[in-house]
Parts: sequence; structure tokens; C-alpha cells
Amino acid sequence: MRQWALALHGGAGKLARGDLTAAQDAAYRASLRVCAEAGRVILAGGGTALDAAQAAVCALEDDPLFNAGRGAVFTAEGKNELDASIMDGASLRAGAVAGISRTRSPITLARSVMEKSPHVLLIGAQADAFGQSQGLEQVAPGHFFTEPRWRSLEKFLGKHGLPLPARPAGAAETAAPLAYDEGVRGTVGAVARDQAGNVAAATSTGGMTGKRWGRVGDSPIIGAGTYAANASAAVSATGDGEYFIRLGVAREICALVEHKGLDLQTAVDAVIQGELKKIGGTGGVIAINCEGDIACSFNTDGMYRAVVADTLPLRVAIYRDDI
Ligand code: ASP
Repeated sequence: MRQWALALHGGAGKLARGDLTAAQDAAYRASLRVCAEAGRVILAGGGTALDAAQAAVCALEDDPLFNAGRGAVFTAEGKNELDASIMDGASLRAGAVAGISRTRSPITLARSVMEKSPHVLLIGAQADAFGQSQGLEQVAPGHFFTEPRWRSLEKFLGKHGLPLPARPAGAAETAAPLAYDEGVRGTVGAVARDQAGNVAAATSTGGMTGKRWGRVGDSPIIGAGTYAANASAAVSATGDGEYFIRLGVAREICALVEHKGLDLQTAVDAVIQGELKKIGGTGGVIAINCEGDIACSFNTDGMYRAVVADTLPLRVAIYRDDI
């Protein structure tokens, strides 16, 4: 049995070998390594799965290459509306936020919702106000802006005959020239097992390019994009949110483990390659259990991912045939 283990993802999508330039490939691998390291040091030092999952996701949020926090995709109105959730497998406590636009780290706000409020899910400006009341860093909308995501929005709006909104104030600041467009979506997430034997999961996203009408995906929905229970596993998902919500993907995987006795890899494959594919959904998950087993499944070309454990050197992967 492993003493501790961590897996993270940076989204799944159009990621076949050859899609990224050599420079993009190298930049993503370097970033995945840095973000996994942020979680690894916590677990190796005896910290909690919750802290490790949050730290890895925080690092991914701050990295402009990924669709979460800085580098998030834009709504049709040219805004970044961010979603995140976190769950503690030991206590089944959970926290989530949807449609926030001012709090620098959505996953940190989700953790505050879990620990400092009597609620599970807060939305919009009032969720940001709660974050501010908790002393969490607030930023101007331009903080999340990156040029490649804006170009994806221009492309999307042109294709759908929608008007191009003005750029957010302070927008020219982050160029992120190596960001790759995996196809209008992306998400980041981490799952961890700590030395005390507890698991946790965390997920954060900007959602889908060009989303409208206050659309919210699966990432902040406990049971869909995120779930963690010591009795089964911790799961973080990425993909077509609408499909993940309809299947309750993260909880469904845990239910197969808990009630049907499936091993973790069989359970994630049953849902991602079976149930999800059957209804036309694309995406993937990472999962971890109390033994420290790590499982991963995706039905897209690729998925940015990394794993590390006390018995496993840090490994990063992007394409299907990477590991
Ligand atoms: N699941 C995210 C959403 O639907 C997007 C993604 O993971 O690609 O908002």
C-alpha cells in the first residue's frame, strides 16, 4: 500500500500527438511538473490530502496555460466566470463556487465555503463577497485575461454570428503565447491520498468558451465533476459538463467501487468508456483511493495529467500513448 499519492489533470480534449508544437509540449509538461510538485511536498511532509489537492489546483489556476483562474476561457459577453469545488473524503464535507469573477483562487474560495460557511455551493458576486469577507485576494477582471483565450472567443463568436464584446479592463497583461486551444474547454483538478489514509478531490475551471445565460458545468457540482469518500475514492473530472452532470460521473464511479466492489480502474473505465460514451459525452477523470491506487480514463485524444507517490517518481503525460 502507498503511504501517499497524488494525481492531477489539466483538462482533456483535442490533444493528439502532433497537435502541440514542440515548444507547447515542453511548456505544458514543465507546468504539470511544477503543479504536481506543489502537492507532492505537502503529502511527503505529512500534510493532508485536502491541502495537497488544493495546492496543486491553486498552482494550476495561477498558470495561464490552463483553463482555470488565470488563463480561463471567456463567456460570450467577454467575461471570465469561474467554477470550482473541493471535497474531503474523510468527513464528506464539501464546498463549491460557480460564476465567480473577482476571487483570485476559486478553489481557495470553495475551501472557505466548506470550512467557514454552513453551505456547500455559493454563486456569483455574492460568493466573491463572501471570499472578500474571509480575506481572500480579490483581483480586477483583467487578471484572468490571456490573449489565446480571447482569440478562441473571437473564433467562437464569429462562427455563431454573435457580436464581439469589448476586452476586459487591463487585458493586455498576460500574453501566454504557448497556450494551446484544446477545443473550447478545459479544467484542472487534483486527487490525493495522505499519510493518514484520507482522500480528497479538487476541481477548478473557466468552463466553456462562449458560454451564455449563466451556464454552469459539472466542475462545481458535487457528485458530477468532483467527489471524495474514503469508503470509495476521490474523483476529479473534465469534459462536456452537461453530460457529466446528467450521469453524476464522479459519484457514479464511487458508487461502482462502493456498492459493486469494482476496482478503481475498472470503475473509471466503465463510466468514461461506457456510460459517458453511450450518451455522447467526451472527457475524462482521475481518481485515487485509500490504498493510494491511482486510476485515469479519458475518451478524448489526450489529457494533461501527472502522477506522483511515495513509490512512484513524478510522471507527466499528455497524449493517449504517453504512459
Ligand atoms: N467540465 C468543464 C465544464 O463543462 C469543462 C471541461 O472540463 O473541459 O465546465
